[in-house]
Amino acid sequence: MSNYSPVFSQWGFPVEPGQPLIIAGPCSAESREQLLLTANAMRSYPVHLFRAGVWTPRSHLEAAAGTGNVALEWLQEVRQETGLKLAVEVATPQQLKEVLQADIDVLWIGARTTVNPFAVQELANALAGVDKPVLVKNPITPDLEVWFGAMERLQNKGVKKLGVILRGFVHRRPSKWRFEPEWELARKFRSEFPSLPYICDPSHIAGNASMIQDICQQAMDLDYHGLMVETHYDPSRALSDVEQQLNPEQLGELLSSLRLKPLGQPENPAEMELQSLRLEIDRIDQALLENFAARLKLSQRLGAVKKELRLLPLQSSRWNRVLQQAHEYGQQCGLSDAFIRDIFNRIRQESIRQQE
Ligand code: PEP
Ligand code: MN
Repeated sequence: MSNYSPVFSQWGFPVEPGQPLIIAGPCSAESREQLLLTANAMRSYPVHLFRAGVWTPRSHLEAAAGTGNVALEWLQEVRQETGLKLAVEVATPQQLKEVLQADIDVLWIGARTTVNPFAVQELANALAGVDKPVLVKNPITPDLEVWFGAMERLQNKGVKKLGVILRGFVHRRPSKWRFEPEWELARKFRSEFPSLPYICDPSHIAGNASMIQDICQQAMDLDYHGLMVETHYDPSRALSDVEQQLNPEQLGELLSSLRLKPLGQPENPAEMELQSLRLEIDRIDQALLENFAARLKLSQRLGAVKKELRLLPLQSSRWNRVLQQAHEYGQQCGLSDAFIRDIFNRIRQESIRQQE
């Protein structure tokens, strides 16, 4: 399979055969100048759509959240000046109304909206009869059913030009990613909706500029049809997602270095599954290491607290309980007693070693 999807051209964004669709632009619309400077600097690169969050969701009340309606006028100016079509996130029927009035070309539904069936239903109701392409980001939590449900709600209201954006999922433990890609979960989703175009947003997966290239290449190797890359004329001055935005030159370098598959290569789901299973094993190996490190760190803290409480550093009754739990749960997980014993002995030795 190649990375190319003819759907985008049918939607009115001519993508050259064999090439992925590229959506780029800042996390948030901050000012007219920021949008124009960024868009103009991308003109020499193969970018099809200019993105900007007009009402960007932020964790904190005081955080810069996009400039709202006025940004829609700036974006129209960007389109007029550069010829780039526009993509904007919509989270509510009111925002949809504003975006349609501004004749924005592509809408996307953000991860915090997809996760909420009430919000998706309200948007789906408002989208009935709207002919714009709608790209649906994965829900912020790794829940396939919620993701399926969001697509069903939109399809049920007759939204036809649908696409999907993988932007990664929340996770609790420390991780090198801001949001885990979960390629294998995404592949399972894709097998239920095989005819949709798939876009990868490496920016929110990575959370930093340095990992974006690798994630884009993995997406291309897994036959994704497009990329959405946060790009700011000067990322250090960005008011949101500072760490993960590329500057236009970095975007250009990234795009020219992507290894794309030849057009017309026959579709091979087994090959796709092989690659995605390998990436899933890499992800789990990484999680094992992160969890070992987190466990060792906790046991060091525990050592310090015990000292404060004048308790002995090693308490065999507690350790026996830990082991017993591990054996019980390990058995439920299909792991042998010998394996559990070896692993936990190694963990114990290492935490004693670190405390010496
Ligand atoms: C964004 O694209 O800037 C954004 C807020 O996305 P997400 O919904 O993936 O967090
Ligand atoms: Mn962002």
